[in-house]
Amino acid sequence: MGLTGIQIFKLLPKTNCKECGVPTCLAFAMNLASGKADLDACPYVSDEAREQLAEASAPPIRPVKIGYGARKVGIGGETVLFRHEKTFYGPPGFAAVLTTDMDDDVIDTKLRKWHTFNYERVGLMLRPELVAIKDVDGNADRFAQVAKKVYDDSDFGCILMSDSPDVLKAGVSVSDGKNPLIYAATADTIDALIELAKEAKCPLALKAESVEDLMPLSQKAVSAGLKELVLDTGARSIKQLFEDQICIRRAALLKQNRDLGFPTITFPCEMAPDLDTETLIASMLVAKYGGMMVLSDFEGENIFPLLLERLNVYTDPQRPMTVTPGIYEINNPGPDSPVLVTTNFSLTYFIVSGEIESSRVPSYLVIVDAEGLSVMTAWAAGKFAGDYVGGYIKKCGIADKTSHKNIIIPGYAAAISGDMEEELPDWKVMVGPREAAHLPKYLKEWKSE
Ligand code: SF4
Repeated sequence: MGLTGIQIFKLLPKTNCKECGVPTCLAFAMNLASGKADLDACPYVSDEAREQLAEASAPPIRPVKIGYGARKVGIGGETVLFRHEKTFYGPPGFAAVLTTDMDDDVIDTKLRKWHTFNYERVGLMLRPELVAIKDVDGNADRFAQVAKKVYDDSDFGCILMSDSPDVLKAGVSVSDGKNPLIYAATADTIDALIELAKEAKCPLALKAESVEDLMPLSQKAVSAGLKELVLDTGARSIKQLFEDQICIRRAALLKQNRDLGFPTITFPCEMAPDLDTETLIASMLVAKYGGMMVLSDFEGENIFPLLLERLNVYTDPQRPMTVTPGIYEINNPGPDSPVLVTTNFSLTYFIVSGEIESSRVPSYLVIVDAEGLSVMTAWAAGKFAGDYVGGYIKKCGIADKTSHKNIIIPGYAAAISGDMEEELPDWKVMVGPREAAHLPKYLKEWKSE
């Protein structure tokens, strides 16, 4: 259970020194309880109180990190039931399975293929992050061999899956600090796996037959000092899995049930006859609280839509995605190259810059800060007005790069051309096409005036 403001207040120094930025310790306690303050803002909390207070300021679903490097996954950390209330923080990880009875050639081929699934969207690199290595016969040497191969030949993080603590120990022994998830402690193996997770400082998955049965396992792991846990309710039917995900999220957020305040792991690969159906199940789980989805394989047509869905669900709905305002050079422009201007909404930038790039016409693209709004919205909201855009053109330095004074504005913002020309009397404002798709033709025919 999280602490109330008054309970937190009792643990603070009560000197009202104001160094935390609020007038009293009580005000700071209230802010801490509601997640609006950071405990580090008070320099005078004792170590003992700090430990208890860290609990209070932890998100209801604890964050858990798995893997390393560019493919490291940070799941959990959630504070709201619905994205529109604030935002979701920990995008779920996607894993595909390798089994220990697969030939090395098959494993090599799969790893090579999975490595090709990298997609750049709105300036972000989207890719799957995890490989689930599944022990099928209790052979610890083979398990360690496959885990080592994955670590040596790829940068995927690992989920180490076995019923045997000895086999898991062999997998962990070759992980070399690369932070695998140990899957999974059950009522029979929890003692041994708590020790292993503590020793290796790795996150631990807990598996039971129901949500209720998970609670004693997580109590035991937490009281042994583990904080990074992942929950598997054992459900392998869509209806039960869906219910369990919601039950866990609601219990953690609405009832402050700390025993269930951890992200989940799910197995569409054990619930469907083919990868397409697995993808549909995983898609439901992206929207409804899945922490990790283990699939039987990655194929481009399956993983790409899942990565895009995840990107959409896990972006902050209150903050538009933006690019930095400034001058972007595309296709090595020179003094005679056309100059285009648009807004700093990421999607607008990437669509427009993509079309310019594909036209192969060397061009300058000037990005104006329109608070992350698209052209039409920004214009309607007065964030892409002629005098404002003209003012930015004057000060951004584009005039020093070009031998002409022509600027191309988006067709949808044609109405600002008059005000722009007033602001930029030396410039000729040209109205470009409305749709970015028509830019290549326009640029190929463009001539300065
Ligand atoms: Fe109280 Fe600490 Fe804030 Fe000072 S810095 S007012 S002691 S909470």
